[in-house]
Amino acid sequence: MSVTSTVIELKNYINGEWRAANGEDVNIVINPANQEVIARAPRATKEETEEAIAVAKEAFESGVWSGLTTYERAAYLNKIADKIEENLDELATLEVMDNGKIKTEAEFDIADAASCFRYYAGLIMAPEGETYQVPEDVQAMVVKEPVGVAGLIVPWNFPMLMSVWKIAPALAAGNTIVYKPAEATPITAMKLVEIIEEVGVPKGVMNLVMGRGSVVGQTIAESKDVDLVSFTGSTEVGREIMKAAAGNLKKISLELGGKSPNIIFADADFETAVDYALMGIYYGTGQVCSAGSRILVEESIYNKFVEKFVERAKQIKAGPGLDENSQMGAINSEAQMNTILKYIEIGKQEGATLACGGNRLTENGLDKGFFIAPTVFVNVTSDMRIVQEEIFGPVVTIQSFKDEEEAIKLANDTDFGLAGGVFSGDGAKAMRVIKKVRAGITWVNSFGTTYNEAPWGGYKQSGIGRSLGTYGLDDFQEIKQININLDVQPAGWFPN
Ligand code: NAD
Repeated sequence: MSVTSTVIELKNYINGEWRAANGEDVNIVINPANQEVIARAPRATKEETEEAIAVAKEAFESGVWSGLTTYERAAYLNKIADKIEENLDELATLEVMDNGKIKTEAEFDIADAASCFRYYAGLIMAPEGETYQVPEDVQAMVVKEPVGVAGLIVPWNFPMLMSVWKIAPALAAGNTIVYKPAEATPITAMKLVEIIEEVGVPKGVMNLVMGRGSVVGQTIAESKDVDLVSFTGSTEVGREIMKAAAGNLKKISLELGGKSPNIIFADADFETAVDYALMGIYYGTGQVCSAGSRILVEESIYNKFVEKFVERAKQIKAGPGLDENSQMGAINSEAQMNTILKYIEIGKQEGATLACGGNRLTENGLDKGFFIAPTVFVNVTSDMRIVQEEIFGPVVTIQSFKDEEEAIKLANDTDFGLAGGVFSGDGAKAMRVIKKVRAGITWVNSFGTTYNEAPWGGYKQSGIGRSLGTYGLDDFQEIKQININLDVQPAGWFPN
């Protein structure tokens, strides 16, 4: 490990104050493309986390944020979007250095983050509410209110974007926030909070607490003063969050892992199917929750598909994210790289055939960082661990199926239910099949695209609740029923 000349000193932000790391327990953040030290981040204690929660609670109760008009809050959100756009290049560069992804992917994430703020700025001003026809002379209606203190816990794969999917609707709805980024990727978290401070969001509304999941994350999930925890990460930790949240029955929203099927019929546009299948698994170096990590191909085109897919996978150029020739970035950490390499060994031991890749890349200076070749396994069966477990790297399995029925059976043979795709030239067939795929995010004749307007989340063990769209706002709002008596006189239930 070498230290770059400018190591960024990250700070927590609590009650409108920036606080440097205290004590010895500091998180050293490295660039996964070359292992250079790029930042030092605080590791907050349980007490500091509790303080941030108390601050957020006080800010919520003061009404300093929820008491603003939706128009005023929306104006703040739009200003945040402006600043993100003004700083797009810097933010994207930092995201590349922190996460390992290629610059074009990071630029896309940052632009999308700005759009997400704009989307919720608009949505919160849209007319809302419902009235009900109820018996008697009563007018029943529904109003929506902020939940209170929102604890936001995010992963390292899309550091800025996953944060914004939570921060934008949480702020729009009038909540106050305690925000914990992943330890591996805290840099853009601080930059984003700097922007939120710069546009004048009142102190106490936005609190940033960096540190260990087992300390900061656990304290947020357990706290009786946190009204809602919105978590994106692994299914394993999601289960822990659910248990911890049970103490005060806080609301939970969980965006978890996946092992998503991509079904390709013989009548699909072949080049389109191969192209999206490649993007579905190798975009983000496969470190994407919705990655199409299980490709299912109709028997009659199986060999042709595998041949073309492997030929194109071999051409993908992995390299440092800031090198404009790189097409696929680094694995985020050494630990994650070792997990992926371990799964590749498991695949071989299980009897699967490696059609390409399967190794760490070390040539042309890549040995300084964490790179794995695009990897394809064939001759796989559904009971294999490489078909069932989320690998979270550039590793795909390709299976064949005979007919629609078998395609659906294989697609749904998983504990996960995040995403799925179908490629076919027969619209009715594609629709029949996609309707039977048990997953929350699906595509027909494409794979992987995401829209701020549409809900994002999973069936089965891929999560609870939805991000984005109107559903993403619902997660941060309570629903209150108000009944107005239109005939004001005693009820007369008990004799007077
Ligand atoms: P992770 O579960 O290890 O960590 C996620 C966050 O939780 C981190 O901030 C971590 O510090 C924190 N954490 C860890 N232990 C905790 C605990 N006991 N209590 C509270 N917080 C704790 O996940 P990761 O490795 O950072 O991210 C990869 C995972 O995220 C993959 O499984 C991926 O599928 C999933 N993911 C899902 C979505 C989605 O939208 N469904 C999006 C992105 C990533």
